[in-house]
Amino acid sequence: MKKQIGIIALLLVFLAPEAVADEGMWIPVLIEKYNIKVMQENGFRLTAEDIYSINKASMKDAVVLFGGGCTGEFISDKGLIITNHHCGYGSIQNHSTLEHDYLADGFWAASHEEELSNPGLTVTILKYMEDVTGKVLEGVTDGMDKEKRDAVINANVTAIAAEATKGTHYLAAVRPFFLGNQYFLIVNEVFRDVRLVGAPPSAIGKFGGDTDNWVWPRHTGDFSLFRVYADSENKPAAYSAENVPYRPAYHFPISLAGVNEGDFTMVFGYPGRTQQYAPSDHIRMLKDVIYPNQVEIRGKKISIMEQAMTGNPLVRIKYSGKSFGLANGWKKWIGEIQSLDNMNGVERKEVFEKEFTAWVQADAERIRRYGNILDQYDEIYKSYVDYYLVSVYTSEVFGSSGVEPASLAGAFSRAVEMASQKSPELEKELQRLKEYAAGFFSSYDQEVSKKLFVAVMDLYGKNIGPDWQTPAYRELFASCNGDFGSVAERLFSRSLFTDEKRLNAFLESFDAKKVVKDPFYILAGSAAELIETRVRPELGSRDARLADLNKLYLAAQMEQGSDRVFYPDANSTLRLAYGKVMGYDSRDAVYYKHFTTLTGVLEKDNPEIYDYDVPDRLRELCLAKDFGRYAVNGDVPVCFIANNHTTGGNSGSPVLNAEGHLVGVNFDRAWEGVASDIMFNPKQSRNISLDIRYVLFIIDRFAGAGYLINEMTLVGESQNTP
Ligand code: ASP
Repeated sequence: MKKQIGIIALLLVFLAPEAVADEGMWIPVLIEKYNIKVMQENGFRLTAEDIYSINKASMKDAVVLFGGGCTGEFISDKGLIITNHHCGYGSIQNHSTLEHDYLADGFWAASHEEELSNPGLTVTILKYMEDVTGKVLEGVTDGMDKEKRDAVINANVTAIAAEATKGTHYLAAVRPFFLGNQYFLIVNEVFRDVRLVGAPPSAIGKFGGDTDNWVWPRHTGDFSLFRVYADSENKPAAYSAENVPYRPAYHFPISLAGVNEGDFTMVFGYPGRTQQYAPSDHIRMLKDVIYPNQVEIRGKKISIMEQAMTGNPLVRIKYSGKSFGLANGWKKWIGEIQSLDNMNGVERKEVFEKEFTAWVQADAERIRRYGNILDQYDEIYKSYVDYYLVSVYTSEVFGSSGVEPASLAGAFSRAVEMASQKSPELEKELQRLKEYAAGFFSSYDQEVSKKLFVAVMDLYGKNIGPDWQTPAYRELFASCNGDFGSVAERLFSRSLFTDEKRLNAFLESFDAKKVVKDPFYILAGSAAELIETRVRPELGSRDARLADLNKLYLAAQMEQGSDRVFYPDANSTLRLAYGKVMGYDSRDAVYYKHFTTLTGVLEKDNPEIYDYDVPDRLRELCLAKDFGRYAVNGDVPVCFIANNHTTGGNSGSPVLNAEGHLVGVNFDRAWEGVASDIMFNPKQSRNISLDIRYVLFIIDRFAGAGYLINEMTLVGESQNTP
């Protein structure tokens, strides 16, 4: 008997599903259950409780959601946060003028008083999370129709969140995981006084620009520093000169020891969105229709902006943020198409779908539950693709980086309606619009905008069939015979929405009748109407069907693969990815090493090319080999790669070694494996991180801001690699 129990126990241990070592974005509360063993086998020296705990200070207390879509981490007990330069970019840009061009020259606050506040910027800290699937589904029964079921779930979700925050200043949300097969309660503390502390010049923070973005080898010093402020009780408060630096429960010690190939690393952060379990229909749609169309139109917009920014610092301040945002997606999609093709991504999914079908067919109950999932996908995607393309393309054309004045004009529709109803709230709305317009014009130049207008209108006519073009577009097209260049001058010189002074003067004596006659208001209204009446309802009903189907399909995949642990798609909640530092084979005969150095920065140096113009001071430090304690083998390490599974949103995430010390700051992924949002490729999917020693070197030797290093906790010593 004893022996039998022993065998059963052994079998159970053997059969218990376990997570794999590289692919996956894991849920912090479940690390103990599914991951810690594998992590420790791969070199991790701490416990699951050190990563996530509600009983003591743990690493999760040092990781923050920075703004809406990036990660940051505390690196001092005085609320100092490090994130990427590209995450702090908007704030740095907002504080930049031609006189104080912090994008071009960098910014270093020499004291707390010099730190710059950023209205609207938040830092969110997870207090705790909890599986509440049971509570969310309370009262849901098998026979319930969808509407009733959704109503019960929504009521439960509201009650759970309200209960969780009762008597606290926390914010709570219940979020679906595994495409709605599981629910977690997320309780957060949100800080609103976040100040800019330091940023290197773009020639370091964005070194390599769009040319190097998504590419390894990389030499970008992609970091910026912020500080969280709190009230005298260490609680969140709106900006006030009385606020004091926040004292986080935990901050990361920073390791000077660096990483070697094969070392364990983990990335703890807020990955945004992945689509690991989607059917082949979805991937085919993205790869063959959506991405190519977006790549074409964005490529055009980016080249117009690039040309205008060259040699014009003011236009650069205005458009660099916009063009970076466009180019980031544009280049990633090109990479995704290529890496999906190289991996035969669609075909692999099809093979999986064949196996899935065979598994379903082998059992009558499975046939009943899952038998027509794939057929339904086929049917929905046949028409979904058209609506999806029109929706995406219309916003590329009439949104804030296309026909720019139309996007501003569109914001006036509420004021027009209020005027017609003689609403007493109109004054307030006009005040709001004044501020909105100021923001708009800070990223606008009329000459650039005219060129964008002509380019996107041309592409719209070429790529969107007449049935799906907006009526206002067709009218304009007919009136100028498709020659938008010939009307641009006239429209831009007359419209209310193309000139800041004109618009501000108009806002002093607002007249809704003039707004509704404005050509850009008409274009915006027509686009909004097309989307509202013809696209959104169709997309919406298909999206609802797809959401149900995706949930069922994933449940079926999990049943089929019950011998392995699944990780949920990214959904902007805190996740842990782990793996090892390693290089990769890029293509025939080309192997990429796992790290880069300052020598590589100088190799790329070219004052003629904006993206590669190394600042004089950095060049001098390099030539003098003035590397201080950050030297390794007579050089300074700059970036490294590992096979940690990351995505957008992981920008700025801490990269930690086996002891949980900060060795890097995650900022990108390598080109060849960039389709990892859809399909992780263990051979080539690599996350790119900034070596923390380069950060320290820049702060200390380049910027002379060593006083910031004094508030950090440094451990270990830089070592020469053998
Ligand atoms: N560079 C990326 C971003 O822009 C990070 C990533 O997707 O790996 O968010």
